[in-house]
Amino acid sequence: MSFEPVLLPTIIEALSAIIAQNAEEVTALDQVLGDGDHVTNVQRGLAALMTQREALSDLAWPVAWQQIGMSLMSAVGGASGLLYSTFFLSLAKAGQGQDLTLNSFAECFAQAVDALKKRGKSEAGEKTLLDVFVPVSVYLTSAAERALPVAVVLTEVAEVAIAGMESTRDMLATKGRASFLEARSLGHIDAGAKTAQLMICALVEVLKKA
Ligand code: ADP
Ligand code: MG
Repeated sequence: MSFEPVLLPTIIEALSAIIAQNAEEVTALDQVLGDGDHVTNVQRGLAALMTQREALSDLAWPVAWQQIGMSLMSAVGGASGLLYSTFFLSLAKAGQGQDLTLNSFAECFAQAVDALKKRGKSEAGEKTLLDVFVPVSVYLTSAAERALPVAVVLTEVAEVAIAGMESTRDMLATKGRASFLEARSLGHIDAGAKTAQLMICALVEVLKKA
């Protein structure tokens, strides 16, 4: 198993495919809780990355993350575009000069999630994509401390992401457009949590085969 940026074209293709397959379902969710443009925003970001996927594969991880963050910043509108670009730019900053191990990645991921919380002025439990990113980060930190084998981490991290996405169903939205709905937001999964989970699961599938 080797996690090198050479995997990026396959990863970006897999993410684009999973989002395309689930586009209608995500749009239906975002029409309930948001303004219905979430899939378009995510797809605009992925399309920008598709055009650069071969160039990205020649870079070191932190440089590739930096490039991804900058591309998403200019290509994607909406709250999610800003949040994902913040995430990748912070990941790049934290990862500078580091070798990629489970330990170093868990540490960088935690810093990037902190930056995401600051940017969104939000925490887990508010029915957003943070309800996937925060439990995934907590799990990665714990997996690194326990020195779990990568194969186990990949299986479990996908389960954590799915549980996080599902947890948004019974949450009250207090951030983003969905907060205007108040109690009517109950009973619906957050679109941003759904796309985050789908992309994490697609990433895991690629890494499992690497
Ligand atoms: P917009 O809300 O600007 O239309 P998108 O539709 O692309 O942007 O993204 C909406 C998703 O972004 C939501 O489903 C939610 O998961 C996430 N989101 C929105 N606001 C915040 C925030 N303040 N903190 C964290 N996540 C947020
Ligand atoms: Mg929207």
